[in-house]
Amino acid sequence: MHRCLLCGRDLSRTSFRDALYSDDPLCSSCRSAWVKKTLKMRFCGVPLESPYLYSDAFSAALIQYKECGDEALKDIFLYPFRDRIRFRYRGYTLVPMPSTQAKREERGFDHVRCMFACTGLPVQDLFVRQGQGDQKKRTRTQRSLVLEEIALMPDMQIPDKVLLIDDTVTTGSTLKAALALLADKGVKLRIYTVSANRRWYKLPFAKRNDIIE
Ligand SMILES: [Zn+2]
Repeated sequence: MHRCLLCGRDLSRTSFRDALYSDDPLCSSCRSAWVKKTLKMRFCGVPLESPYLYSDAFSAALIQYKECGDEALKDIFLYPFRDRIRFRYRGYTLVPMPSTQAKREERGFDHVRCMFACTGLPVQDLFVRQGQGDQKKRTRTQRSLVLEEIALMPDMQIPDKVLLIDDTVTTGSTLKAALALLADKGVKLRIYTVSANRRWYKLPFAKRNDIIE
């Protein structure tokens, strides 16, 4: 039997769509509870793409996955987009935004890397996070200090084409730090986040292409 990984419903019984596409690890009602809303913008000049709004339902699933250590949920996030990502970013190496060593050890897995594993694209770690703090608990000013908290791993071969990946884009401060660290390396850059904070969608279209904060 095939059960929805979030609600546990038997996928062969819920709907025609679920019976037909039952390799989706989520049932259609759990899948549609997330707000699919494509965001495309240029972040510090680099094209950024994200398929989901960071809504309450999305956030709850993400917390269950990363904070409760429910590794089985790794494929639910990008399942509908995996083929498209593989095709669109062929030739790119995926580079995850890093968690602190302490967080990674606590979870027992690298949650961003695992979310993108279903795309089949190569993944390489380039960054380490040096800070110990929890980003959520910080104020906005403190978050901007993240700039000094990620660093390039020493002696790494940097790929020609890098797709920076993360679970969500909130303030964008970590991504900004990553872009700054790769700025003089002659790398072709793209960004893909699984979700994006509401604030980015609210920006007028013209501004979306010129995020330099
Ligand atoms: Zn479900």
